[in-house]
Amino acid sequence: MNETRALKIYNTLSGKKEIFEPIVADHVGMYVCGPTVYNDAHLGNCRTYVSFDIIHRYFLLLGYKVRYVRNITDVGHLTDDGEDRMSKGSKLTQLEPMEVAQRYTLGFHEMMRILNTLPPSIEPRATGHIPEQIEMVQQILDRGLAYVRNGSVYFNVPKFAAENPGKYGSVSGRVLDDLYSETRELKSQEDKDHPADFAIWMKARPQDLMVWNSPWSTGFPGWHLECSAMSTKYLGKTFDIHGGGNDLKFPHHENEVAQNFGACNCAPARVWMHTNMLLLNNKKMSKSDGNTISPAELFAGTSEHTSKAYAPMVVRFFMLMAHYRSTLDITDDALLAAEKGFKKLMETNKILQALPVNASDYDGAENDHDRAVLQLIEEAFRGMDDDFNTAIAIAALNEIGSFVHKIANQQLETNALAPWVLEKMKVTFNTFIVDIFGLNSDSTETGDEGTVDGLMSLILDIRSQARSQKDWPTSDKIRDTLTAVGILVKDGKDGATWVKQ
Ligand code: AMP
Ligand code: ZN
Repeated sequence: MNETRALKIYNTLSGKKEIFEPIVADHVGMYVCGPTVYNDAHLGNCRTYVSFDIIHRYFLLLGYKVRYVRNITDVGHLTDDGEDRMSKGSKLTQLEPMEVAQRYTLGFHEMMRILNTLPPSIEPRATGHIPEQIEMVQQILDRGLAYVRNGSVYFNVPKFAAENPGKYGSVSGRVLDDLYSETRELKSQEDKDHPADFAIWMKARPQDLMVWNSPWSTGFPGWHLECSAMSTKYLGKTFDIHGGGNDLKFPHHENEVAQNFGACNCAPARVWMHTNMLLLNNKKMSKSDGNTISPAELFAGTSEHTSKAYAPMVVRFFMLMAHYRSTLDITDDALLAAEKGFKKLMETNKILQALPVNASDYDGAENDHDRAVLQLIEEAFRGMDDDFNTAIAIAALNEIGSFVHKIANQQLETNALAPWVLEKMKVTFNTFIVDIFGLNSDSTETGDEGTVDGLMSLILDIRSQARSQKDWPTSDKIRDTLTAVGILVKDGKDGATWVKQ
């Protein structure tokens, strides 16, 4: 990377931004906890994966070779009542647990594609790594940090904490004494010696559908174990970055660290990164609380929380407008602002790319405009270097955009900027929009985006005229024909909008 720049990342372990130093030069190993595939991902989940997509993309841009591992949880993640989420999904859909996993894994991939996220390098499944997890349980037992009770195996938290001062609580900041009283006891885990202990292998109960043989019982691994075992397998015992939403800090990530130490006396990740939550009505978006908007509802404009449909790229841009460590409240107003901001940025880029670069027009030395633009370009990259701060980068690009508009409106001469500065603006804009932010125009798949937009606006104008003359057959015919070709028209208080399904 550029000698004068350094990438800083906020590390949950230290509570500070640290200069990123990879374990192996020019390589990054990053593990991110993936979805539990028992139902459709909601927008909150999407925010976390879009945030890590930006991080992934920025590492690639800086020239790192990235191994990005994002797992699929398809066993062992229990609800508060102790039911395996996959069994719950299986009961609701009347499908085999593996059919449930397949259905929602495919749905998740499709959503990640629609949101234009790059696929991870490896996407391991918990059920595909049972031997690795059994081996890890054995290692923890061999090191005396777990015990067997009635066929289940429990991690001994007080012993681990006593032998490794400061380690338990290093991710979540929780104090062990508080945990004792806080930790809910599941009926299925009443064999535990201590409330803070947690199961790393669970003996199957009659209702459990996915079970495997092990030296201790026929059962299944505890949820936290899969990430410890799979990160070790694909990234090594100690790797660069481990990420997830900040709701996973406790117990999931805290227990992962304990397990890795327990198995090999070594820390899993050097840097722990946590994304903040997407909120709806000022509360964490969460499926179990019914406080959600699904991406599909948002794209189709059928959510009770929004006045219209929003295109996937607008939603992606909305997520980038905030830094990944800030909470983000989804409201109709915020989405409208994002839509405006997204369109403006894309439009500015179009104008910028069309500006002629004419070296012969230029009168010589670097001037104030050149210096201002170069400073803004620097600011955009510095924003990204400062813990991937997309909000700062977007603000800098918008300021560069005001130069573009001044030139386009002839408030500034084209030759007010040095040709190489103009060229640099063009490259920078494209780099940010395409490579770093991963934004594409939603209608590019149909060919000429401008043409499609123009035609759609004409069609909706004709429909609006028909409606004003109470010509319902024409209005309905237009809407139904568009629906048949995959374009959904939504009538709102400010007129009709459309979105490709
Ligand atoms: P799950 O499928 O519940 O295991 O969650 C998948 C990922 O989504 C985890 O990294 C969670 O931390 C993250 N997540 C869940 N809810 C939200 C939310 N409201 N905002 C941002 N990320 C979330
Ligand atoms: Zn995990």
